[in-house]
Amino acid sequence: MRYSGFRVIKEALTGHKGWQPAWREPEPKAQYDIVIIGGGGHGLATAHYLAKVHGIRNVAVIEKGWIGGGNVGRNTTIIRSNYLLDGNEPFYEMSLKLWEGLEQDLNYNAMVSQRGIMNLIHTDAQRDAFVRRGNAMILNGADAEYLDLAQIKKEYPFLNFDDARFPIKGGLAQRRGGTVRHDAVAWGYARSADSHGVDIIQNCEVTGFRIENGTCLGVETSRGFIGAGKVASCVAGSSGHLMAKAGMRLPIESHVLQAFVSEGLKPLIPGVITFGAGHFYVSQSDKGGLVFGGDIDGYNSYAQRGNLPVLEDVCEGGMAIMPMIGRARVLRMWGGIMDMSMDGSPIIDRTHIDGLYFNGGWCYGGFKATPASGFTYAHLLARDVPHPTAAAYRFDRFAKGRMIDEKGMGNQPNLH
Ligand SMILES: Cc1cc2nc3c(=O)[nH]c(=O)nc-3n(C[C@H](O)[C@H](O)[C@H](O)COP(=O)(O)OP(=O)(O)OC[C@H]3O[C@@H](n4cnc5c(N)ncnc54)[C@H](O)[C@@H]3O)c2cc1C
Repeated sequence: MRYSGFRVIKEALTGHKGWQPAWREPEPKAQYDIVIIGGGGHGLATAHYLAKVHGIRNVAVIEKGWIGGGNVGRNTTIIRSNYLLDGNEPFYEMSLKLWEGLEQDLNYNAMVSQRGIMNLIHTDAQRDAFVRRGNAMILNGADAEYLDLAQIKKEYPFLNFDDARFPIKGGLAQRRGGTVRHDAVAWGYARSADSHGVDIIQNCEVTGFRIENGTCLGVETSRGFIGAGKVASCVAGSSGHLMAKAGMRLPIESHVLQAFVSEGLKPLIPGVITFGAGHFYVSQSDKGGLVFGGDIDGYNSYAQRGNLPVLEDVCEGGMAIMPMIGRARVLRMWGGIMDMSMDGSPIIDRTHIDGLYFNGGWCYGGFKATPASGFTYAHLLARDVPHPTAAAYRFDRFAKGRMIDEKGMGNQPNLH
């Protein structure tokens, strides 16, 4: 079923009886060409691009819970491509370009909103670092703009310019960055993959791998064995736990990251703002709530809830740049499990086991990466060679010392 303005009018006039479920609830088949483990954003995007770009449709996405119940539905919805290093910047810029055409590609309103992102600068050294980052972005075809103090005051008059502990000196803006309705991304990809014949199987947990003579033949699940020509792990925060069942120990550890939403306020914040002297980022949802977050909790965990010291730390960051945030009440908070790699960058690669592939290590930054991750993982699965834009995201970089050690305004493994 195609969605359109015409369809909305027709359904409104006929009692909304013609809407169909966005995807089917099929029983698992005995064998697929490709089984993707994890119905998060990355797994569903991979299925969509496998079917649409490569014509591989005998595919299942196996999800232990429900579509959108993982990090794809728990993040703070920020998209951007403001990275520095060669291994990363082209990849995230590719992702941003895919976001720009996503709703047409999926025929689904994911509320992609390029309202801009602005990283505050508080010291002269930080200005140098951000200008360097901005130049790297421009050299890679992205947009970047240095804002001086007068411009920041004009565009963000509610920030504290009077007596801040860390005075604001400028900012690095990316106008094409912004936010996307996170769970709509999962639903949009799921609907599109399903319409191309992919089976989305919810409430089905992968409990092990069937590996014989160094080849993965399929997965053991809570609903029985499912055979597969190729098995693609895509379980984000559960990566270490799952791959241990294939005997692998990953350069990844899991932490909780929390998000917070305030009561609804009148439109106040024009885009995404990040604090440069601590860890705090904020935007305003279309419903009016301030959506904000900060650092990961400082201990390893597979729990989807965090604790109060990080809440205090995040709120201190908010108060440091916009003290009036102290008058807003926090309505909701939740946690998601972060898969933090040891150089802060992701992995999209084959494993040493034939037929078993891995995608993970996204930590804080994986939502914005969803389209490019799906696109390049599908390429790897279909052709058995890495996509050129994701070629740096290999396991062997840790053995060979070719780390992509980029903080990228995200995870910083050396601090946790
Ligand atoms: C609070 C928070 C804020 C964030 N903010 C941002 C942001 O603003 N911008 C940004 O770019 N990124 C952000 N992120 C990171 C981003 O959300 C993740 O990196 C990304 O969503 C991970 O990929 P995914 O969507 O595929 O993961 P998930 O949605 O977690 O998908 C993995 C799926 O695998 C399933 N699974 C696990 N084990 C099994 C199993 N054994 N069998 C079957 N299924 C299994 C899980 O149930 C889950 O649904 C944030 C994350 C959190 C938690």
